[in-house]
Amino acid sequence: MISGTNAIGSKSSKQGNKTFKTFNPKENKDTEWTFYEASSNEIDEAVALATDAFKVYKDFPGTKKAEFLEAIADEIEALGDELIETYCKESGLPDGRARGERGRTMGQLRAFANLLKEGSWVEAVIEKAQPNREPMPKSDIRKMLFPLGPVVVFGASNFPLAFSTAGGDTASALAAGCPVIVKSHPMHAATGELVSSAIIKAAEKTGMPNGVFSNLNSSGIEVGQQLVKHPKVKAVGFTGSINGGTALYKLANERDEPIPVFAEMGSINPVVLLPSALKNDGKPWATKYASSITMGAGQFCTNPGLVLGLKGSKLDSFINTLSEEVLKLEPTCMLHPNIYAKYNKGKKELSAQKGITVTADYIKATNPNTAQPSILKVSGADFLANTKLHKEVFGPFSVVVECENALEMESILNHLEGQLTGTVLGSEDDLENNSGVVDALQSRVGRILFNGVPTGVEVNSSMVHGGPFPASTDARFTSVGTSAIKRWVRPVSYQDWPNKLLPLALQNENPLKITRLVEGEYTKN
Ligand code: NAP
Repeated sequence: MISGTNAIGSKSSKQGNKTFKTFNPKENKDTEWTFYEASSNEIDEAVALATDAFKVYKDFPGTKKAEFLEAIADEIEALGDELIETYCKESGLPDGRARGERGRTMGQLRAFANLLKEGSWVEAVIEKAQPNREPMPKSDIRKMLFPLGPVVVFGASNFPLAFSTAGGDTASALAAGCPVIVKSHPMHAATGELVSSAIIKAAEKTGMPNGVFSNLNSSGIEVGQQLVKHPKVKAVGFTGSINGGTALYKLANERDEPIPVFAEMGSINPVVLLPSALKNDGKPWATKYASSITMGAGQFCTNPGLVLGLKGSKLDSFINTLSEEVLKLEPTCMLHPNIYAKYNKGKKELSAQKGITVTADYIKATNPNTAQPSILKVSGADFLANTKLHKEVFGPFSVVVECENALEMESILNHLEGQLTGTVLGSEDDLENNSGVVDALQSRVGRILFNGVPTGVEVNSSMVHGGPFPASTDARFTSVGTSAIKRWVRPVSYQDWPNKLLPLALQNENPLKITRLVEGEYTKN
């Protein structure tokens, strides 16, 4: 049963008098659920509980935190079809996508549990003392990673499970030892409430301190802003728009004690067609990219929104096939009327820019909130001269740029903002013969792909889902994969500390049997 209340630790709470409803984009009407907007008092209560919980939770052994994460995955599964049906109702996304995303969410939680059980992620480094070193004795210094404290997580609209309540930000922060307060996404607050109930059940079952997790509802920006400004909050995770992410980033930096904000935001994910990719008029790639551009109504952060090729008849054929194929695919429902309206506005604005030719525009009537895909083409010179064309249009949309030559292609890549991904299509020889283009692309992205599509992000320990601004606010980190835990920790050195009082990870006997860097050598000894 969806109650619409806030979860302050294990307490369900509805102190505020402002309410809102979620929306069913397929049926184009409100859902049956009403949610209570979190009040200032509820925000303070959630942060105070998280602060107390941190004192205990941070010192729990990795194995105990792993039990918690595994229990969350089990409890999410136990929600069964109610979760799937709620997800579909609030997002307009199909059943298969809901089940796939649920699997991914549980997989992420279990991957972090395994990381904790293995234990070496704390990066223990030991430099032993040399009391007789000349001219100065050397101290014993040992370093490892420690959790930052309570983390605020903003749920993302486009992944109601995998990037929301128990998504990658929450899983990685809990794994690091940080309590989490979720600012639930207002478009899928019921899905969020169900997942939140699973986390709270798991916390109770595995003996976690009350307040290790809270879930707050809101339909406006005030709750999120109050959370980011709260002096006891120590870090923020966000996925969404550039406007939202940068506003929160600025707010966090204006605090008396600035805190880290990892915001994953916009990206147009450039794709470079090198000569071999256009063999057979690039037909196989054009067909594949038509699917990638329209998948999930184009609502993926890794959606390919920009394609660069060398002007000529082969590129013309590629554009023709891409345009034809895009129009053959059945358009699908977007997440929300606001996102649908923003898509149409962006599409219209870009279509009207100087030098633009619209090569595909789905004009048949569709159901409500259903995105009509579009492909545009433009010359390299017009693209370079107009940075409006460099901005993300969130939806089934892509711009193909006809470059005069490889130098112009390289220049365009050098002028792009930071990106989550960049893709090269061609042969190995093409890569070697176009090193300037490849280097330019590599310098703008977090992940560079060869002969593939950027949509579909593997969750593993080598994944980078981040990139230079504005793809993310901190290109040193990733929000997907087990390395995402590094966003919520800081290193601390212990100097000449008594062995038995050191954290277990740093003690001489290595009781956790983890891999450590001892005097420059990785060892479990
Ligand atoms: P959003 O508008 O950025 O909102 C995300 C979350 O941040 C929401 O909970 C929102 O709260 C909060 N928020 C936004 N601006 C804020 C501010 N100034 N201060 C405090 N909190 C703020 O993104 P969205 O609702 O998910 O989707 C809107 C657009 O974002 C899409 O049309 C798309 O362009 C973009 N988007 C991009 C990606 C990507 O990865 N590239 C992913 C998702 C969305 P409230 O909703 O309560 O105001």
